[in-house]
Amino acid sequence: MENTLAPARLKQILDRMAKAAAAAGRDPAAIALVAVTKTFGETSILPVIAAGQRIFGENRVQEAKAKWPILKQRFPELELHLIGPLQSNKVMEAVALFDVIQTVGRPKIAAALAAGMRRTGRRPRLFVQVNTGGEATKAGVDPPNAKEFVRRCGEDFGLVIEGLMCIPPSGEDPAAHFTLLGRLAGDLGLKGLSMGMSGDFETAIACGATHVRIGSAIFGGRE
Ligand SMILES: *Cc1c(COP(=O)(O)O)cnc(C)c1O
Repeated sequence: MENTLAPARLKQILDRMAKAAAAAGRDPAAIALVAVTKTFGETSILPVIAAGQRIFGENRVQEAKAKWPILKQRFPELELHLIGPLQSNKVMEAVALFDVIQTVGRPKIAAALAAGMRRTGRRPRLFVQVNTGGEATKAGVDPPNAKEFVRRCGEDFGLVIEGLMCIPPSGEDPAAHFTLLGRLAGDLGLKGLSMGMSGDFETAIACGATHVRIGSAIFGGRE
C-alpha cells in the first residue's frame, strides 16, 4: 500500500532542517538530506521521489541491489549513498551501484575500493566512518587513528576522501560526538560531515553537518 504520509513528513523534515540551519547561521543549501530507505520498498520510495527527493541511503548492499538498479534507471539523477558496513566481498557491487560510500573504515576496504574503481571506471565519492564512541559493535576507524587512515587512503590507495561520518552511541549526548567529528574533519581539511538521524539531526546541523541521514521520521517505524 502506498506510503501516503511520507511526502508530508519529508516536507516537515526539510522545514525543520531549514529552521535549524537558520538558527545556526548556516546556509540551508549546504545541508543535504539523505532519505534512508532500508526496509522500505517502492510504495514508500516512489511518493518521496515524486515529492522531489533525490538523495537516498541504504545500509546493506544486498538489499540495495534488489531495489535500486531499476529505480536509478527510471530516475538517472538519483544519488544513492551506502551508510552501512561494507565487507570486502561486496566492494565491487557497492562500487557499481552506489554514488557515495560513507563507511570506509579499514585499509583492506580502501584497497578493495581502489581496485574496484580501477576495474569499473566508476568513482563513488567517499566518506570515512569514525567510531567516535569506540564501540566494539560499530564499524569505523577509532578517532586517534582517523588522521593516519585518511592520509593512507590518499597516499597508499589514491582515494579522495570527501568527509567523515559517525553514528553516536545510543543513550549518549550526540552533541559531544558531532563536535568531535567536526573537529577531526576541520583538522584534516575535509568539508563533508555526515551526522544526525531522525532523533538528533537538528543538533547535528548546529554542529556543522553537511549530510543528515533520516529514515523513520520520513517513512515511519521499521519492523
Ligand atoms: C537506519 C540508519 C539511519 C536512519 O535512522 P533513523 O533513526 O530511522 O532516522 C541513519 N544512519 C544509519 C547509518 C542508519 O543505519
